[in-house]
Amino acid sequence: MTDFPRPAPTGDHAVYWDWLRRGELRLQRCASCGTWRFHPRPRCPACRSAEHAWEPVSGQAEVASWTVCYPPVLPAFQERAPYNAVVVQLAEGPFMVSNVLDVANEDLQVGMKVELELVRIDDDLTLPQWRKHTLPVFAHSAGYRTRIEHTPAPRPGRGRAS
Ligand SMILES: [Zn+2]
Repeated sequence: MTDFPRPAPTGDHAVYWDWLRRGELRLQRCASCGTWRFHPRPRCPACRSAEHAWEPVSGQAEVASWTVCYPPVLPAFQERAPYNAVVVQLAEGPFMVSNVLDVANEDLQVGMKVELELVRIDDDLTLPQWRKHTLPVFAHSAGYRTRIEHTPAPRPGRGRAS
């Protein structure tokens, strides 16, 4: 995994990645008009206010668009191809580019309900990814799952086989 391209965040983006590292997907929300925003930026696109808070999202979203990536791809992604790249729309409104982890590429559909899974790559990087929505939701207190990539086995009675 070490040769994968990694984010090099600064400013508002650094706060976003820091919340992910701590195990939460938080987005900026305007303190003046309540509009959620992503990508992180200094001012609200609706009212131009700079006042905001970093608030946790529900972890619920739906697929707004998708594609399947075939070779040639960057060498770091070669073994994964063909893989999906999706645009999900969060229940809170913002769109986000990511992947759906557990769905065959031919089964992807616009409108598919998905739920957040945080994938911890290492101590410095956690990625927000998505899984097809299932009920009941296995969840921790923030309302979505966290998968630890570098831990060999989940604690008994916790986590999930993957
Ligand atoms: Zn606003």
